Amino acid sequence: MGMNLMIIKPKVRGFICTTAHPQGCAESVQEQIDYVKQHAGDQQGPKNVLVIGCSTGYGLASRITTAFSFGANTLGVMFEKEPTERKTATAGWYNTRAFEDKAAAAGLYAESLNMDAFSHEAKTAVIEKIKAHMGKVDLVVYSLASPRRKDPDSGEIYSSTLKPVGKEVTRKTLNTDSVQVHDITLPPATEEEIAGTIKVMGGADWELWMDALMQADVLSDQAKTTAYTYIGKSLTMPIYGEATIGKAKEDLDRAAKAITAKLQSGNGGDAYVSVLKAIVTQSSSAIPVMPLYISLLYRVMKDLGTHEGCIEQVNKLMTGELFGQGDLNLDEVGRIRVDLAELTDEVQHRVEALWDQVTTENLYELSDFSGYQKEFFKLFGFGFDGVDYDAETDPIV
Ligand code: NAD
Repeated sequence: MGMNLMIIKPKVRGFICTTAHPQGCAESVQEQIDYVKQHAGDQQGPKNVLVIGCSTGYGLASRITTAFSFGANTLGVMFEKEPTERKTATAGWYNTRAFEDKAAAAGLYAESLNMDAFSHEAKTAVIEKIKAHMGKVDLVVYSLASPRRKDPDSGEIYSSTLKPVGKEVTRKTLNTDSVQVHDITLPPATEEEIAGTIKVMGGADWELWMDALMQADVLSDQAKTTAYTYIGKSLTMPIYGEATIGKAKEDLDRAAKAITAKLQSGNGGDAYVSVLKAIVTQSSSAIPVMPLYISLLYRVMKDLGTHEGCIEQVNKLMTGELFGQGDLNLDEVGRIRVDLAELTDEVQHRVEALWDQVTTENLYELSDFSGYQKEFFKLFGFGFDGVDYDAETDPIV
């Protein structure tokens, strides 16, 4: 492979950065590994883990936590772009390379399949890898966030939509690129848009994965599985909880029950929906209103000393709940809650008070948008102290 050196700078287009820095992404993975190691207890956890959506955000944090807290072997599925001589890879691709290297150095099996997780092919390929390298899997983490899904049987392509249900909604939002706070009016979703969003972000594919793994007999006795969701409170309810994405997330509760029933009629096991707090990820930055809410939330929770990011949340979920010493903290629907610090009256009232006042002019003063921006760039490997961003860098690692 020829060396083709380039200076890699962030290139932001709307709510996405189209470049990523390989060394910066490796730093980001290392920071999360360091956090997990510092907080590791001595409890037992899963030894073989499958993470579907393993390369960024909550899925990557799940992979890092199980590997470096419990010493788990991990198999991941992701949808990322490889680097070329002229273009950087996507951040998730560099994250995954770095993770695999660090896991291998720690003596752990870590392999990743860059395939469409919604396809039958991905399920078949994963089962082959499990049989060859792991035997059986103790934990399956389902952490996909995708705008589209091709139904593997009908071939039909469904899209997910971010719109309110029932009536139009006008809400303050923040354009993170132009740094303008303004009102946005979202029309109500059509029935087709609601159904499409449920097809993409609901529980159907999680069920297909678990069915395939059960049929192939690659789940260990009492295996666990979890899918991730967000609930939120009144500020985000009209555009999340009670909107198209919220309807899709409700379908996860249905799927969790169906999967648990099937597991228990076989080798035992449980499926849980785990509720996580709002954080900056590539997916949340694409949701209207969320970046403004997150900027205010970070400000309030940092002031109160209760701020947590991705790795803190997942570490709490894995070591404190799913594989913790005590009983699970389930809500009335049977979900695991690690989002409760975000939802206290104190936090929500403070965010609401700031929400009413925030404008383009006072954005940096009232909110933690500067913290939001730092986190956003870090998702793509930019802004790490240990990296020389002026150095000529090979995009192919
Ligand atoms: P993310 O964009 O960082 O991660 C999405 C992952 O899915 C990536 O690894 C990506 O490669 C993978 N992926 C997407 N489409 C794929 C496909 N077709 N095949 C294989 N892999 C594919 O998103 P995230 O914010 O970490 O979201 C993960 C889950 O966590 C979602 O269910 C989301 O709703 C939930 N969640 C997010 C937040 C938040 O604030 N970000 C809060 C609570 C819950």
